[in-house]
Amino acid sequence: MRYELETIPIWDALKSDSECFICSLMQEAQADSLRFYLGSSVMNPSTRAAVNETGFCAHHYDMLIKEEKPHALAVMEKSHFQQTIDSMDKAFDSLLKSHNPRKALAFFDGSVKKRNEGCLICQRMEERLNRYAFTTAYLWARDEDFRKALEASKGLCLEHLRVILKLSSDAMDARLQKLFLEQMRDLEKRNFQRLMDQLDWMTDQYKAENRERPWNGCENSQKRIIYKQTGQGLCKTTS
Ligand SMILES: [Zn+2]
Ligand SMILES: [Zn+2]
Repeated sequence: MRYELETIPIWDALKSDSECFICSLMQEAQADSLRFYLGSSVMNPSTRAAVNETGFCAHHYDMLIKEEKPHALAVMEKSHFQQTIDSMDKAFDSLLKSHNPRKALAFFDGSVKKRNEGCLICQRMEERLNRYAFTTAYLWARDEDFRKALEASKGLCLEHLRVILKLSSDAMDARLQKLFLEQMRDLEKRNFQRLMDQLDWMTDQYKAENRERPWNGCENSQKRIIYKQTGQGLCKTTS
């Protein structure tokens, strides 16, 4: 088995009746990670070294700022920023000593990009996502109750469907995988159509003749169809 199983969280999330139960889990995973890096764990020397080395992407720095824990963030950034200053000094030194400025500038460009894009939260979330996606396919292949519960659910966003289908090859044999793909196609088609019908209802609702009729729970369909395609609680390193 390639990944540790996360059976209980998957079952709990599936019962939550959200538009994508993996999105719900990933939003929790993101909140957990933000708490982790703004909490006392970051004082641990190995965590501190990892933060200094890798840091966070712009998206997650923005989220860390919005958590409004200025002191915790300031303490963490003090050593991370010092490391940024040291690497910048080193990079400028080699840039100015180089006899091949084009090559040296390309190296400088690559190393700054790498530093700005590295993200411990994206990494943690990617590991979590892989475990959740693998567990979903694994349970489907082995547990009839899970298969039925998944079939009765609202399905998945396109992004998380992609990851689950990709990892399904590691969780079941080819014969079973064909059945899995058929069920996932039916599940997704049915739920995407449900959202399309709700979107139709919503857009028609703005016509003058429909002003008096009820919204039927379709008032935020535009948001749900967007998240159904892009997913929520995502990290950019997902591959
Ligand atoms: Zn999702
Ligand atoms: Zn990130």
